[in-house]
Amino acid sequence: MSETSPKLRAELEGIPSYKPGRPAAGDGPAAYKLSSNENPYPPLPGVMESVTAAAAALNRYPDMACTGLMDELADRFGVPVGHLATGTGSVGVAQQLLQATCGPGDEVIYAWRSFEAYPIITQISGARSVQVPLTTGEVHDLDAMADAVTDRTRLIFVCNPNNPTGTVVKRAELERFLDRVPKDVLVVLDEAYREFIRDPEVPDGVEIYRERPNVCVLRTFSKAYGLAGLRVGFAIAHEPVAAALRKTAVPFGVSQLAQEAAIASLRAEDALLGRVGSLVCERQRVVESLRAQGWTLPETQANFVWLRLGERTAAFAQLCEEHGAVVRPFAGEGVRVTIGENEANDIFLKAAEHFHKEL
Ligand code: PMP
Repeated sequence: MSETSPKLRAELEGIPSYKPGRPAAGDGPAAYKLSSNENPYPPLPGVMESVTAAAAALNRYPDMACTGLMDELADRFGVPVGHLATGTGSVGVAQQLLQATCGPGDEVIYAWRSFEAYPIITQISGARSVQVPLTTGEVHDLDAMADAVTDRTRLIFVCNPNNPTGTVVKRAELERFLDRVPKDVLVVLDEAYREFIRDPEVPDGVEIYRERPNVCVLRTFSKAYGLAGLRVGFAIAHEPVAAALRKTAVPFGVSQLAQEAAIASLRAEDALLGRVGSLVCERQRVVESLRAQGWTLPETQANFVWLRLGERTAAFAQLCEEHGAVVRPFAGEGVRVTIGENEANDIFLKAAEHFHKEL
């Protein structure tokens, strides 16, 4: 065999790999997975029924235009169907956004640390990442992000709430930032955890988008709606951004199972948002308990908490695992812990208490 291998794009060299949250061990003590910001509730019976019914037509391709889902979303958000685009999870849509806006030499700005897919999908596009550190309070530094704009900037991610810190940017600061960003630069408001927000000062991206043609809102069915396994997310954006997203979509990327489940979930929104309410109560309990134990942590508006543990990150993750919960360590930085079932949260709190006492 020859030593020559197919020529691959140089941009792919050195791409960090996406680290999925580790699953809980099958038979060991780690019974709970708090590492991927998933929803701990199983699908609603009605959602299961619609998925099972759709499975009878697995020999057929899905509806490529996601017609039923688009109509439902247009109705739910009060936007024209032409302002919607679906994809394989919101990360799939984010990748399409980069394909639609960026090429070699272009720049993409985002806060760091933030969602770990941003550097990966930026590098795949050939564009350069411009990472703007979070403030000491773990919040997006929107002034510094606006200062980082150059004539090569094509796209800016604003992750609200931010993964993995759970922190939010508020209406006035976001509006001020958007006023500063040139109108030919796309600002993507990644609102994967929108439904968990309770702070009234955090704006709804869909309201912001209406007045601003360079704003695109990303949402997902993976978190509040509990459909992470089905891979369906969507964007709300003006033309021509939405049209560009439809062009860059993988044909038939969103399965019919995912489409039907998403429609059923929108129709069962009251029940699903009730579950979100329970998770938000649990979040409050977890945060208050951690503070009572002596921990300092940023205000979270998402379905997870962030502990900046620095060098003690790995040890903490290990201890949680020994207690029975898998969390998400970011080596040398901190640990993100998803709010899960009450018992899972209790296990995490017990591990946290144990760890803090040893400090
Ligand atoms: N955005 C953020 C901020 C996320 O945390 C995630 C999931 N980890 C996503 C997007 C992608 O979610 P999905 O592709 O499942 O919609």
